[in-house]
Amino acid sequence: MTDCLFCKIVSGQIPSKKVAEDGDVVAFEDIAPQAPTHLLVVPKTHVARLAEATEAGMLGRLFLAAARIARERGLEDYRLVVNNGESAGQSVFHLHVHLLGGRPMRWPPG
Ligand code: 5GP
Ligand code: ZN
Repeated sequence: MTDCLFCKIVSGQIPSKKVAEDGDVVAFEDIAPQAPTHLLVVPKTHVARLAEATEAGMLGRLFLAAARIARERGLEDYRLVVNNGESAGQSVFHLHVHLLGGRPMRWPPG
């Protein structure tokens, strides 16, 4: 999608600190980290939000990539977050999984 921030990050049109990439998924550092590790794991294909996802394989690969990256970084405990919709906290409308770790997490989230 031409006017999507994360599509531009995926294509390299907008710079980011990429930490992992495979055929389906790119992971990069969040620009405003909320934890010592705060990565965004995104599908290469544009899907605006989880509610619009239809491909089980893509979703599986997205979460498996997040778990693999956490493991590779030695993170045993971590949190994955998907905000779906504005009032749930979504600000970029290209599906992404937040991978947060490196500090204790509280519950419930705000
Ligand atoms: P959301 O609020 O949609 O769940 O998460 C969007 C995330 O994207 C936020 O954590 C925000 O800090 C991050 N973000 C926004 N703009 C940029 C950017 O230009 N580059 C990077 N790396 N992250 C961004
Ligand atoms: Zn996009």
